[in-house]
Amino acid sequence: MRVLVLNAGSSSLKFNLFEMADESLILEGLVERIGVDGRLAWSVGAESGVQEVQLPDHAAALAAMIELLEARLGSGARIHAVGHRVVHGGPKYGESTLITPEVLADIEAYALYAPLHNPNNALGIRVAKAALPDVPHIAVFDTAFHHTMPEHARTYGIPYELSMKYGIRRYGFHGSSHAYVAARTAILVARPLRSLKLITCHIGNGTSVCAVRYGHSMDTSMGMTPLQGVIMGTRCGTLDPSIVDLLIDKEHLDYQAITELLNKKSGLLGISGVSSDFREIEAAADAGIPRAILARDILTYDVRKFIGSYVSVMDGVDAITFTAGIGTHSSRLRAEVCRHLTYLGVKLDETSNRDGQGERLISAADSRIAVAVVPTHEELMIARETVR
Ligand code: AMP
Repeated sequence: MRVLVLNAGSSSLKFNLFEMADESLILEGLVERIGVDGRLAWSVGAESGVQEVQLPDHAAALAAMIELLEARLGSGARIHAVGHRVVHGGPKYGESTLITPEVLADIEAYALYAPLHNPNNALGIRVAKAALPDVPHIAVFDTAFHHTMPEHARTYGIPYELSMKYGIRRYGFHGSSHAYVAARTAILVARPLRSLKLITCHIGNGTSVCAVRYGHSMDTSMGMTPLQGVIMGTRCGTLDPSIVDLLIDKEHLDYQAITELLNKKSGLLGISGVSSDFREIEAAADAGIPRAILARDILTYDVRKFIGSYVSVMDGVDAITFTAGIGTHSSRLRAEVCRHLTYLGVKLDETSNRDGQGERLISAADSRIAVAVVPTHEELMIARETVR
C-alpha cells in the first residue's frame, strides 16, 4: 500500500510518499512559493532536484506534484490513500478520520481555533480530493492525541458556560510527534509504553512539552491554539492576557496586528532581535549578545519549568525525551535542561549527548531516570494512521 502524506500551508505543500509494506519513504518533496512564482524541490533516495514552475494556486501545486510522481515513478506513482495533516480537530475529533463532506466542513469551522492553519489544511484536502477522487483521504489531527487530557487539565479559568458554548479549552498540538517519540522511548528503555510515565519535549520552531502517562497524554504546554506554553521561534508562549489589552491600547493595534505580533514577531525572534532560528541564537549568545543570551535562557528555563510541573502531575517520571529541530540537535540545550534535574536522579552520558547521532539514550547507565533523543517522524505517523 502506498500512502501519500500531505501537509498544506498557506503558500506551500509538503509531500511524502511511503511504501507501507516496509514503511520506506519512496519520495519526498516540497512545493513552495505558491501564488508567488513557484518552486518544486524533491528527493528520491540519493537523487534530488529542484524545478521552477508557475504555481498560481494550490490546485496547480498539486498537479505539479502528481506530474513529478508520475515522471519519477511511472506506475509506482499509483497512490492508494492520502493522509492529510490537519492542525485542529476541535472538540469532536479524538481520532484520525475518513474525510467526508461533513468532516471537511468541521475542519473549516475549526478555523475558529486555528485561523493560521486549518483554512490551508482544508484547501489542501479540497484540491487533493479533486485530483485524486478515487482513493480514501484521511485527516490526522495534531490535537487528537491530547483528547485524553482530564477535564481539570484542559479547562481554562473563565466562566464555564463560555467554555462550553465555544469549545474554549486546552487542545494541545504536535500530537503525532509526541505519540511517535513516546512509543520509540518505550522501545529504547525496553519497557511497555503502558507502564511508563514519560515527558516528551518537542523543541523546534514550534515547541510543546507533553506528560504522557501509560501511553496517554495527560497534559501538554500548548493550549486552545499553538500560541500557549513555552516561548517559540516567533510565538510568544504563555502571556498574561492583560498584556494584549495594554498593547492594543498603547500601540493602537487592531485584532490582526496583535495576532501577527504574538505569532510572528515574538518568541526567540522578538526577545533576541537576532533571529527565530536557534542556531543563530546560540551563535549570537556565544558572541556575548545579551538579548540572544536572554532568549536562549528563557527557552531553557521554560522547558525546565514544564518538566518540573509534569513530574508533579504524573507523580514521577521514568524517562524524558527530546525531539524536533532544537531538541534533536542542540546538545547544549539538553545538557543545560538536565543539569537542573539532578534532584530527580538524572545523570547524562556526556559523550552520548554531545557526540551521538540519531535515536539513542543519552543518560548514564546509573541515571535514575532515562533521557533520550528521538528524531521525530510525524509524516510516518500520519501514514500509519492512514493505514489504520
Ligand atoms: P523544526 O521546527 O523541528 O524544524 O526545528 C527548527 C529549529 O531547530 C530551528 O530553530 C533551528 O535553528 C533548530 N536547529 C536545527 N538544527 C540545529 C542544530 N544543529 N543546533 C541547534 N538548533 C538547531
